[in-house]
Amino acid sequence: DLSSVKETVTSVDNTPPTSRKPTGDPQYFQARQALPLWSRQDDIRRILRQNDVLVLVGETGSGKSTQVPQFIIGEKWCQKKKVKVGQEEVNVGGVVAITQPRRVAATTLAHRVSREAGTPLNRLGPHSKGLVGYSVRFDHRVPPGTKIKYVTEGMLLQELLRDPHLRQYSAIIVDEIHERSVDVDLLSGFLKQIILSDKAGRGGIPLKVIIMSATANVGSIKHFFSGADSAVSDGTANPEATPMTSVEFLQIEGRQFPVEIIHTPKPVPDIQEALMKTLFKIHTEESLSDKHGKKDILAFLTGQEEIEAAQKLIEEYATTLPPKVPKIKVFPLYGQLSMEAQHEAFQPIKGSSTRKIVLATNIAETSVTVPGVRFVVDCGKAKVKQYRARLGMESLLAKPISKSSAIQRAGRAGREGPGKCFRLYTEETYETLQKTDLPEILRTDILSAILTMKARGINDVLAFPLMDPPEFEAVEKALLHLHILGAIADDGSITEVGRKMVMFPVTPPYARVLLAAADPKYDCLLEVIEIISCITAGDDIFLQIQSEETRDNIEEFRKELRRREGDLLTYLTTMQLYTAENADRVQWCKERRINTRNMKQALNIRKQLRELCVKQGMMEQPPQDPQPFYPASPEQAANILKCFLRGFAIKTALLAPDSSYVTPQGKHVVAIHPASVLHGQKKEAIMFLEHVYTQKNYAKKVSAIESLWIVEAMGG
Ligand code: ADP
Repeated sequence: DLSSVKETVTSVDNTPPTSRKPTGDPQYFQARQALPLWSRQDDIRRILRQNDVLVLVGETGSGKSTQVPQFIIGEKWCQKKKVKVGQEEVNVGGVVAITQPRRVAATTLAHRVSREAGTPLNRLGPHSKGLVGYSVRFDHRVPPGTKIKYVTEGMLLQELLRDPHLRQYSAIIVDEIHERSVDVDLLSGFLKQIILSDKAGRGGIPLKVIIMSATANVGSIKHFFSGADSAVSDGTANPEATPMTSVEFLQIEGRQFPVEIIHTPKPVPDIQEALMKTLFKIHTEESLSDKHGKKDILAFLTGQEEIEAAQKLIEEYATTLPPKVPKIKVFPLYGQLSMEAQHEAFQPIKGSSTRKIVLATNIAETSVTVPGVRFVVDCGKAKVKQYRARLGMESLLAKPISKSSAIQRAGRAGREGPGKCFRLYTEETYETLQKTDLPEILRTDILSAILTMKARGINDVLAFPLMDPPEFEAVEKALLHLHILGAIADDGSITEVGRKMVMFPVTPPYARVLLAAADPKYDCLLEVIEIISCITAGDDIFLQIQSEETRDNIEEFRKELRRREGDLLTYLTTMQLYTAENADRVQWCKERRINTRNMKQALNIRKQLRELCVKQGMMEQPPQDPQPFYPASPEQAANILKCFLRGFAIKTALLAPDSSYVTPQGKHVVAIHPASVLHGQKKEAIMFLEHVYTQKNYAKKVSAIESLWIVEAMGG
């Protein structure tokens, strides 16, 4: 029943230009006034004065993420108010939060909008006032006076723990809802509860919600927010008194030049080869620029590894081009890349005789705009997290994208002028693609999601309002796992341990490990942080060895790092030696075939986790680097592994009489991955933190343990 949803579809072409002048830095006025959204700002303001929820659809680049918050912060309803909540006098409102699925989008947008607003973040001193800020995992810049705050979805979920009524905010803008991450689905449920039944908690001040999407596929979202169903389960709402929310829908057509789509005539046997041919065909045959501007290339690949390999090949091949062919500069763009490196991909290139090639994951599909792109090369795949319920494990697999993604990718070529999109697959293949992607909550491990729900006091997670509730079986499984982790009690309520676990920006099993390590019985928090930092930085700090010859030598390269207890202790030694060395760290990494960039990222995560643990009172201020290196004793190693077992008791396997490793609960056979230091070895029992399913069931990040420890970890 959509009767409560009003619909307005407008097109840019027949709307009069608004006479409003932008505020902020004049150098951006012209660009902002040219955005498709600019002329609709009065509509947006009017709708929000009259309604609780606005669902706004507009092409990527139409100005949603940068302009909408600036349109509304001056509104009367958007100002901070002093109100009474019970006996207490509190401030409500004044700030607008805009959520983003990825940190890079949140920080890029905050920088951009802070420049537009005339309070550029990168030129503010530590105490200067500003209008715009951001808050993402491990990185916050919220200057005093901030009214517009870009946050990741996960960050806002964390804030909900501290401030369940979101009192600081007048409005929450949920951007990129079409991506349908677990976090955005949870957030939507919470927001629905707040707007439907939490007026009292905010002293009667409503929270306005703006849902933004680049695709018009928002029927179920509109329905969800219209409040027509009564799945709100805070236990206080009387179904008959459940107020309806007024939702208005506004669609704005973007500026889009025609994009010619070229499929391959036959399926390509080798994507990398097809990619290289296509890139150099474009580069040698197409002009570098035209009257619309630069004509750069954006290629969509599946992941970091593929991107790094392609970059190397392109750079090598480019050196063989004749001197009169323009130069090429390659920029990688993926989520794990450092913030600075990601920003580089957005900068216009200096020198007009060089073509930019950006090699990106689907991060560049809808959330960030790479300027100058006129050619798109689409490999047709994306890596997605796939939760394998039967195995109780999650794996990252390259899967065909949906039609909707393919269309988005092609659209990237037509932002600034007519473009071309080269699909490295046939038209027949395109026709077989699914229309849209499944929401992540239906694909993923929902452990963190459920624990977050529990921490919000939602005991009956099955009744929480979700746009697409996960299957009963998956929820039950997650509840069981959380129970094993000690995060929820027998009656299903969250425990003290569970409450501490949600404070950590890592998944529940890792959070459990950290908590165990702080226990005086084990006392190895510093060591465990070293290991978790290495694990969560990028794909792996250890570079994969391609050639046979080097593979044989790898034990030699990493001789002093390798530990017989397995990969976790090897990570520990690596981090300890890396930070103990005073010599050239880059060279040190190179000699050991270690990814310098991931290692730097690991250092950053280590710093943040240490700070968090100090703040949580779990440890004293840690000693400064460099520290003298003492290898962990066998007792220490055992303690460390016992802590990891607290989080990963269900990821264990025992050696069977036929020398295979079999998981105790599911009776699945797993093999130790060739990249593990324990590859080819027989141990009584193993624990593995990760599991990949390629040709075989591979256990990764493997450690040798004693079977008795598993019983201990499950029991107490
Ligand atoms: P939407 O949210 O609809 O995708 P945005 O508000 O993010 O649109 O972007 C609007 C326009 O602002 C983009 O098309 C681009 O021209 C410009 N823009 C946004 N972010 C940046 C940036 N970091 N650097 C340069 N230009 C940007």
